[in-house]
Amino acid sequence: MIRVLFFLLPVAAICGWYFGYRSSSAAVNASAKGGGLSSNVANGSNNKNAMPEEYFAGLNYLINEQPDKAVDAFVKVIAVNSDTVEMHLSLGNLFRRRGEVDRAIRVHQNLIARPQLTKEQRSYALSELAQDYLRAGVLDRAERLFLELVEMGKSDIANYNFLLSIYEKQKDWRQAIAMAQKLTSVSRGKMWTPIAYYYCELAEEALDQGLIDQAEVYLKKALVQDRNCARASIMLGNLAVKGAHYKTAIHFYRQVQKQDSDFLPEVVPQLANCYEQLGKIEEFFTFVKVALQESYSGSLALALVKYIDRYYGAKATIDFIATQHSANQHVASLRVLEYLLHLCINNAGSTEMSVQVQSNVALARQLLVSFLNNKPYCRCSNCGLGTKRIYWQCPGCMRWATLKPIRKFEIE
Ligand SMILES: [Zn+2]
Repeated sequence: MIRVLFFLLPVAAICGWYFGYRSSSAAVNASAKGGGLSSNVANGSNNKNAMPEEYFAGLNYLINEQPDKAVDAFVKVIAVNSDTVEMHLSLGNLFRRRGEVDRAIRVHQNLIARPQLTKEQRSYALSELAQDYLRAGVLDRAERLFLELVEMGKSDIANYNFLLSIYEKQKDWRQAIAMAQKLTSVSRGKMWTPIAYYYCELAEEALDQGLIDQAEVYLKKALVQDRNCARASIMLGNLAVKGAHYKTAIHFYRQVQKQDSDFLPEVVPQLANCYEQLGKIEEFFTFVKVALQESYSGSLALALVKYIDRYYGAKATIDFIATQHSANQHVASLRVLEYLLHLCINNAGSTEMSVQVQSNVALARQLLVSFLNNKPYCRCSNCGLGTKRIYWQCPGCMRWATLKPIRKFEIE
């Protein structure tokens, strides 16, 4: 309640300022015409510009902690005319930015209902109202208004972007593709990454319905739009595995390294499985080791270490970590360190480690695990959001393909 009341103070101030401004303007005009205060009173203009009753009623509601009534009173105070349109727009915008979307809608609806608005003012108010609906999650109304604006000739980039965000929220990927293509033509922007991801979403929907051929068509379209769309390659690899086409699957999974090597750790288990099915697990290790050498990634190192342990045991794994450390001393991978401690504890029986040292190592690992449990696995390169798993569309900034496994684990 205190927050709302605090918010209403600038609203009251705007109204107060408006009437102060009108009164002083009227006084200046009167003086310019040779009159004075006495002539104002005589002309009755003093009454016209005085603070109306609603203003004081609004202040009263404010004092009595009745914010809804206070807002209504303040909005009534400022009559809509050509001088106050900007003020109404600012007030509505202020409400929306503060999360008071219902009030923003009321202000903008009130504005649009006025016949004296110019064409320009009306389209501006419509755009504001559409944004209110979008913020309130009333997507169909927001869409209708943005489309109306486009039909009115307001085909600016902002309206297309708002429509695109609506289609994304509605998961209407076909409309999203059409809108992104329009945006490409009007803004010459680079929309191929989102369009490729919309095709991947269509492929996911087709897979949910068991339409594998259709899914493949969408994924190939995704690669036509953006040949570096790693998600499309991963999905094509997964489809090939379903058909037991392991060589084809390996081709798609290995493609990920060239497209966007940040996503390579995501396909390590699938790659290992395919090579295993073909009886060529050595080729898997060679490929991943070379990839790691070309571009170090903590997530990739950890994925590889787990497979070395699985196939060759603890000693080979510890040797590999030691070699990696001497080759990459400038990068730290706390998760690899945690895995190393895990190996030391599990293999303590075959070493001469005393019980006390074993217990100390276990404690060190426990501390490290608690520390790492609070750390994200992915980080968005656009907004910096950290998440525990991959999202193809960042839940923070809604960008596509910006949330990736962290290469170098962050130490804080
Ligand atoms: Zn983001």
